[in-house]
Amino acid sequence: MARAIGIDLGTTNSLVASVDARNRPRLVPVDGGQPLLASAVHYLPGGAVEVGAAARARAAAAPADVVLSVKRLMGRGPADLRPEDRGVYRFDEDGHSVKLVVEGGRRVTPVEVSAEILRVLRRRAAEALGGPPGPCVVTVPAYFDERQRQATRDAGRLAGLEVARLLAEPTAAALAYGLDQRRQGLFAVYDLGGGTFDVSILKLADGVFEVLSTAGDSRLGGDDLDAAVAERLLAGADLPRTPEVLRGARAAAQRLREALSTREEVEDELLLGGARVAVRLGRAELEALLAPVVARTLAPCRQALRDAGLEPARLDGVVLVGGATRTPLVRREVRALFGQEPLTDLDPDAVVALGAALQADALDRGGRDDLLLLDVVPLSLGVEMLGGAVERLVLRNSAIPATATQQFTTHADRQTGMVVHVVQGERELARDCRSLARFTLRGIPPLPAGQARVEITYAVDADGLLRVTARELHTGVEQRVEVKPTSGVTEQEVEDMLVESLEHAEEDVVQRFLAEWRLEGERLAGALRQGLAEDPDLLADGEREAIDARLAGLGEALRGEDPRALRAWIDAADASAAPFMERRLDRYVGRTLAGKRLEEL
Ligand code: ADP
Ligand code: MG
Repeated sequence: MARAIGIDLGTTNSLVASVDARNRPRLVPVDGGQPLLASAVHYLPGGAVEVGAAARARAAAAPADVVLSVKRLMGRGPADLRPEDRGVYRFDEDGHSVKLVVEGGRRVTPVEVSAEILRVLRRRAAEALGGPPGPCVVTVPAYFDERQRQATRDAGRLAGLEVARLLAEPTAAALAYGLDQRRQGLFAVYDLGGGTFDVSILKLADGVFEVLSTAGDSRLGGDDLDAAVAERLLAGADLPRTPEVLRGARAAAQRLREALSTREEVEDELLLGGARVAVRLGRAELEALLAPVVARTLAPCRQALRDAGLEPARLDGVVLVGGATRTPLVRREVRALFGQEPLTDLDPDAVVALGAALQADALDRGGRDDLLLLDVVPLSLGVEMLGGAVERLVLRNSAIPATATQQFTTHADRQTGMVVHVVQGERELARDCRSLARFTLRGIPPLPAGQARVEITYAVDADGLLRVTARELHTGVEQRVEVKPTSGVTEQEVEDMLVESLEHAEEDVVQRFLAEWRLEGERLAGALRQGLAEDPDLLADGEREAIDARLAGLGEALRGEDPRALRAWIDAADASAAPFMERRLDRYVGRTLAGKRLEEL
């Protein structure tokens, strides 16, 4: 049977894990037998692609052809790219999407670049597991928005993965530590990776994790630690600061720094720009160099605690994530700030992938996954309005749980029931969407049209279950139904429906306007006819002819299919009758008031 897998698609490194026969999550070897795949993609002449450490090693020589840290570009439009995200790449911007121009003028999207990384992970997993992997859970930062998450999903699909779910990275780390077993608690997750720093506060209740707050610095990580050490290496040697020397110093700094996480002192002879440089670095000196960088992680930690309204003492655990948290100084600072020993039993660079594997396995078993399901609504959820147009309440790709509320009113006098038709899809008309449920709210008080206030609430819970509630606000009468919007909709159907909605976009908009304006036109024609019949004495000279002519035009437009003509006749009829209708309103209001005593007003 196809084994479920969990993937940590990282900015610097990516990993894949799967739960073994003894129910333990295990990393899959991916690059030369080791479990870390450098998130680097090298585009070679002839269309070939190389991923991993070999690709990263080529970054210096072919900067435009090796894409690093593509995660920073995921789900971003040309408008939200900051100069520092642009790096050394050439971009092709057509106004909607971002494309990187790589080897030979080839254009690739961030989704395609990520898919190359995922493809390698899928292939290695297939080799290790003896067959194509089953459902897959991919992790994303807790702060990723809808577009970034959708881009991640798309990358997975492009790589041939069955992405069953996206999971927040801090939640995955907490799962790896089995913190969900505790049923409840408050946890901090401190994640210092290669180029990003994230801290999250999680609340666990009844086995469900909620991200209470997140903070961080998207430009702070191991790379900054390397830069600090590289400065020291170069300060000692009298060398010209060529790009080659700088790169060499950075690489040496990383090697020495990582070694010093477990050793007290390192000695090495570096070859920098053709010159031999002897270095000797001790732990104390290293820590003096790193201290200012590590100190920059503390303010976001305090911020996250503040945002969650917590004192450090309230925390039940602190989880370390990210390769750079192997640094002893980092661990000491974290311990001091949170006032407790952080959890370090698991490899900090592996915890996210291990947690993702556990979640994938749980999903695969079909067991009730009582973990926080960071997932999205695949298609918009809406309600059919009078005339057949759809009012969307929950938009496609909203994170679940999601809720939306909107007020509606009655369209006829003394209307006491309202049909609520729940539909799913991206098309403008209800008849082109999937019908999920239809029910009637009864017991609306018999008020004039437009007076009743019916509030419709859509709530999608963590399991994707939609609960629709309709409530009349004067009386409080309420009616509710439950539907499972995702059941029965396959990925393919979602795709088909999206394609269809794009193909029909223009026609749909026309249909939608036609539906809405027909309603408006009919209402107006009815009101005008009634007015003419009831209060002919209020008509000024020539007014009747003018109104009649426009009513005839409106009647014609209502039978036709041209929304523009319809709109024009509605406006014309409305304008010609406005003075008369105002006089009528005055008379009506006067009559009503005359029949009432003052206290009733
Ligand atoms: P990301 O989540 O951004 O993909 P990782 O969690 O893989 O990144 O972290 C990569 C960073 O971890 C690099 O800066 C690397 O130098 C650092 N790192 C890895 N091993 C060690 C170690 N033993 N000591 C200190 N830093 C380490
Ligand atoms: Mg990471």
